[in-house]
Amino acid sequence: MIEDKNQQRTDLSELGEFGLIDHLTKNFVINHKSTVKGIGDDAAVLDFKKKVVVTTDLLVEGVHFDLSYMPLKHLGYKSVIVNLSDVYAMNATATQITVSIAVSNRFPLEALEEIYAGIETAAKIYNIDVVGGDTTSSNKGLLISVTALGEVENEVYRNGAKPNDLLVVTGDVGAAYMGLQVLEREKEVFKVNPNNQPDLDQYTYVIERQLKPEARKDIVKLLQDLDVKPTSMIDISDGLSSEIMHICKQSKVGCDLYETKIPLDPQVISTCEEFNIDSTTVALNGGEDYELLMTISQDDYPKIKANPNLTVIGYMTEESAGMHLVTRAETKIPIKAQGWKNFNE
Ligand code: ADP
Ligand code: MG
Repeated sequence: MIEDKNQQRTDLSELGEFGLIDHLTKNFVINHKSTVKGIGDDAAVLDFKKKVVVTTDLLVEGVHFDLSYMPLKHLGYKSVIVNLSDVYAMNATATQITVSIAVSNRFPLEALEEIYAGIETAAKIYNIDVVGGDTTSSNKGLLISVTALGEVENEVYRNGAKPNDLLVVTGDVGAAYMGLQVLEREKEVFKVNPNNQPDLDQYTYVIERQLKPEARKDIVKLLQDLDVKPTSMIDISDGLSSEIMHICKQSKVGCDLYETKIPLDPQVISTCEEFNIDSTTVALNGGEDYELLMTISQDDYPKIKANPNLTVIGYMTEESAGMHLVTRAETKIPIKAQGWKNFNE
């Protein structure tokens, strides 16, 4: 949060557009056979033997991220992750991305280097080729658009859930939203007293989930190894309730979600208590968890039941039964997508 005023600032115009592109992309390596030609020509050339999935996301400063607490390296990393998450939600393997970026002249070269360091790290960790992009100026602020491509054999849509299927979520939910609450609070404290050094030790997990989310590449592999093909799948970018609603609407089914089964990290529970927010509300409406939500046939239950990465949180019902949360008190309340106003997308 503390800006280093002594940082070197090289004006972007010193390199020129082509010099800038070369400088930012010189470290990218190509790993995939399907990449015939990467950066450097008018277009990349790809050669897929399988079905291809394509997805894109646009991140806008002030709407999707706040640079007062989002380090630029993390922003680069996250801009890749949000796209990979969509690829994995199709049960696909991510292989290439393109990165388009618009910056105002308030950003020096060193800022772009940071963003690209994050992109490079994500590309390495997730084994993705960066095969192109575009670089331009903006009148105000920073925009990053990433497009991801992947290969898929057995794609999984949102529309395949059947009554009696189990509703399964990976990892835990709600942490990224609570991380955002902590960061927003610290930003306000910092405004009042810039010398105040915040002690964030007890929030490391929730903050990391907000600033450095991961995409569940491992789950696509796990499902393959377990020989489970989900009947439907979606990634959790907007919170459990809106993702459940997408699956239910597209699959024409209902759902009973059990409040007591929703996986929450202890740090989410303690931070919710501190902020006086209901943890179930956070799990349902928070978002940016980038976990996967899927439905599987009951026949596949023995294959997943021992796995710590997968939690059964409910089951699907007939469409006419509607979508419900079964509360701790065993009452049923309808699931609505509320989505908090201050939570973008
Ligand atoms: P054109 O003018 O034909 O669009 P550019 O000069 O914009 O070409 O881009 C030259 C090459 O550099 C292309 O391969 C393009 O995909 C790549 N490129 C441009 N900007 C970026 C970027 N921000 N990140 C990655 N690759 C980029
Ligand atoms: Mg171009």
